Amino acid sequence: MSNQTTDRLGKKSSGVILKDVTKIFQQPDTGKDFVAVDHINLHIQDGEMVTLLGPSGCGKTTTLRMISGFEYPTSGSVMIGDRDVAKVPPNKRGISMVFQSYALFPHLNIWENIAYGLKVAKMSQSELVERTNAVVEMMQLKGFERRFPNQLSGGQQQRVALARAVVIEPSVLLFDEPLSNLDAKLRESMRDELRALQKRLGITSLYVTHDQSEAMAISDRVVIMKDGVICQEGSPTEIYEQPNSRFVANFIGKANFIEGTFRGMDGTSALVEVGGKTISIPVPGSMLDVQKDGPCCLTVRPESIQLSAKEGQLPGRVSRATYYGAKVEYEVMLGEHPIIVEVYNPQLTERFAEGDEVYMTLINRCVRVLR
Ligand code: ATP
Repeated sequence: MSNQTTDRLGKKSSGVILKDVTKIFQQPDTGKDFVAVDHINLHIQDGEMVTLLGPSGCGKTTTLRMISGFEYPTSGSVMIGDRDVAKVPPNKRGISMVFQSYALFPHLNIWENIAYGLKVAKMSQSELVERTNAVVEMMQLKGFERRFPNQLSGGQQQRVALARAVVIEPSVLLFDEPLSNLDAKLRESMRDELRALQKRLGITSLYVTHDQSEAMAISDRVVIMKDGVICQEGSPTEIYEQPNSRFVANFIGKANFIEGTFRGMDGTSALVEVGGKTISIPVPGSMLDVQKDGPCCLTVRPESIQLSAKEGQLPGRVSRATYYGAKVEYEVMLGEHPIIVEVYNPQLTERFAEGDEVYMTLINRCVRVLR
């Protein structure tokens, strides 16, 4: 893509603010009210890529649709830039959407599909041609212009959908599970392509997905939703390394939950008793709601536990060892409680077999103490 195009596209990008937004649907079958989105606050900064992630039915699509204008909030406000868009129809919001289904016009060729939004906007023919050609080139669609959508692969069609979305230079790009129809390998490469494009153009973007690795890979910030509320938001690193609840820890990646008793603080470390042994865990910030001498839970990622035959914090017995090449996954019984441990680079580390007595040491930096 030429620098000139890069400079020009995305220039009108602006932030999005949701203030105390609620959406209540009346259920058609029972007539009862259902709160799909419950008083959420969210600020997407200018040029930022934010992903909404959460289980099915948590309110992700409804939130996206309220920004697009296809749904109106029951209460609260939606701002795009400095404009309250509560009463603004979708086509006047300066947004573009990319859908899972591509939503291309089957009777138009690729070039016409991409140029469509500019034609509707009644742009002069010369600028329309210039801009469409620039985006065709940018999206590596040169040579495909005269084909029709059904003559392209899924990945190529999604690239056309993306081209069609960016050509109108939207303030905000909204993605609704755009890669779900692609196979795993193509999905990964499209994901990287999409992120590179978003960064290059600096377009404020909101992305909805079920797929946690996709969310981790493409986002500046991940917002985890459950039952219509935001449970946690933060960079992919914060969400993975400092989950604020068991739900988030379990939803993003794998997690072990080790029950213990909180025995108090030692400076900035929490003293936690597990199976009669007290271990010290550094804690960032406050200890949430954990009470002294009350129950607590250590949240530990499988790759944040080291195994040794000789020494360590917690004794256990290997009940399963599965070799995957890049890693060995162990199940280690801590008393009656199975703990999953992943050891990467198995060529370089001590190996264990079913029945072996081992010690586990938690890599402190990656452990969270939760209620
Ligand atoms: P998924 O990942 O499965 O797409 P989601 O997180 O995007 O789920 P939403 O589509 O936002 O979830 O739906 C949230 C809740 O609101 C769901 O329980 C859904 O059944 C309900 N809902 C959505 N649209 C309507 C509607 N038009 N009328 C009634 N209920 C609705």
